[in-house]
Amino acid sequence: MQTLESLVLGRAVRGSDAPVQLHNPSTEEALADVRSGGIDFRAVVEYARATGGPALRAMSFAQRGALLKALSGAIHAEREALIELSIQNAGTPRGDAKFDIDGATGTLAYYGALGETLGDRRVLFDGEGVQLGRTARFWGQHVLVPRLGAAVHINAFNFPAWNMMEKAACALLAGVPVIEKPGTSTAMLAARIARIVHDSGILPAGAWQFIAGSVGDLIAHLDAQDSIAFTGSSRTAALLRGHPNVVRNNVRINLEADSLNAAILAPDVDSSSETYALFLSNVALDITQKSGQKCTAVRRILVPRERVGDVRADLVAALAKVKLGDPTLTETRMGPLASKAQFDEVRAGIARLAGVAEVACGGAERARDRGYFVAPTLLVARDANADVFHADEVFGPAACVLAYSGAADEAAALVARGGGGLVASAYSNAGDWVERIVLGLAPWHGRLWLGSDRMAEQSLPPGMVLPASIHGGPGRAGGGEELGGLRGLAFYQQRTALQGFKSQITAFGPVESSAVS
Ligand code: NAP
Repeated sequence: MQTLESLVLGRAVRGSDAPVQLHNPSTEEALADVRSGGIDFRAVVEYARATGGPALRAMSFAQRGALLKALSGAIHAEREALIELSIQNAGTPRGDAKFDIDGATGTLAYYGALGETLGDRRVLFDGEGVQLGRTARFWGQHVLVPRLGAAVHINAFNFPAWNMMEKAACALLAGVPVIEKPGTSTAMLAARIARIVHDSGILPAGAWQFIAGSVGDLIAHLDAQDSIAFTGSSRTAALLRGHPNVVRNNVRINLEADSLNAAILAPDVDSSSETYALFLSNVALDITQKSGQKCTAVRRILVPRERVGDVRADLVAALAKVKLGDPTLTETRMGPLASKAQFDEVRAGIARLAGVAEVACGGAERARDRGYFVAPTLLVARDANADVFHADEVFGPAACVLAYSGAADEAAALVARGGGGLVASAYSNAGDWVERIVLGLAPWHGRLWLGSDRMAEQSLPPGMVLPASIHGGPGRAGGGEELGGLRGLAFYQQRTALQGFKSQITAFGPVESSAVS
């Protein structure tokens, strides 16, 4: 059986601890294993700081951008083999596999192009300069420079390709070396991509290291110039944030955690409108794409009370069209959950929700004799105020319809009970309703998606994370922020206020504010 290897200190390393098996979630067959241990993590961090960092910082943004474009091309060249690995180890139908892998190469290409537009400079200007003295000779300007440490990236199992490369793109373009640790259950795809990056020789030595298995005592070796960007559960996020060394050294940390994303249908949306069709297709897509294992997937569907019966019937009909089954077959639209742990957790979660809701379709039962299959599940809350709907993230193909009066303020208050989210989508063509919902929801979300007749034809679904817009959210969602164009680099940079003679400062070269945003 294949043992996944770490790529550290310029070489491949197999761990020394007992193996943890990785499975094909459609067949439950063991495919590979991962062994932790046997890695000197102090040396791994030092190697990144002393070798990868200086090499990246010596390059201009344009040069680093060219590296990202080359990485995107090298990964894309193996797209078919990567899709196959995703189908095998994550149980994703081909469309879901492409969503992850093309998301990775697309984000690398996006940041590559952004780097090229920044040209030869190595320092970014943050906003406009200001006159600080009697004349413009004494000048102030905020600048952003690369931090001198390593970027430790700890990622979730659900997007092994995209999650790894969206973080890497920002760190590398900022000039900071990466130490990547993927979620173990689906690590075969991540390990293969890590190998492509390593073997391509595109990045300078020390700029890219990959850990298969546990991070051991890595966190204990980080200092104030290092950073941790984490995606995963609130539970692990809290452990990392509270790690004594993170607290002692103020290690910079960005957390992307759980989210009870909401979709809200406004009372003005007619059932014959494009907006209503968009609402139905987006909600059905979120429940079934990646078997609902998407951090941005909708979990709460707010519907005006008198429309609940119709919406329920329409969503059940839409979900019935989704073919669940063997992800190797082209007609399959939804595969299994990614692992046995996921299967057990999601079924228990659906059972908890079913205790306070009607099951309109699907349910907690095993949907096929073999493999970790759960059917698309729609529930209708008996009481939208019950805590479980606003506190319990079931990370699978399940969502609940919650009845509300139709008032934007009431919807916003209900959604806010989720304690902070990644994205909320609101469907309305009524300007005043939209204004109220935006003001009510925005403080609780990193992103709001506004569905209406005018954008229906051109829109990309709310569950899709785009590199040009920030990803993250307050509170339960972790309080972090990733992507968002050049904003995504700021986590890896130090913002410093330069004060001095204007010509000395402006010689670093301004960046047009349009490029910074
Ligand atoms: P998880 O169990 O928290 O694991 C996330 C990552 O942390 C994995 O790489 C895991 O490694 C690692 N890890 C676990 N314990 C650790 C520790 N003590 N120290 C260092 N690393 C540790 O989450 P998951 O089950 O993979 O992902 C599902 C969750 O992620 C869901 O709750 C979902 O909402 C959230 N998520 C959020 C986003 C977002 O952008 N906000 C995106 C995707 C998923 P092992 O796999 O080896 O245990």
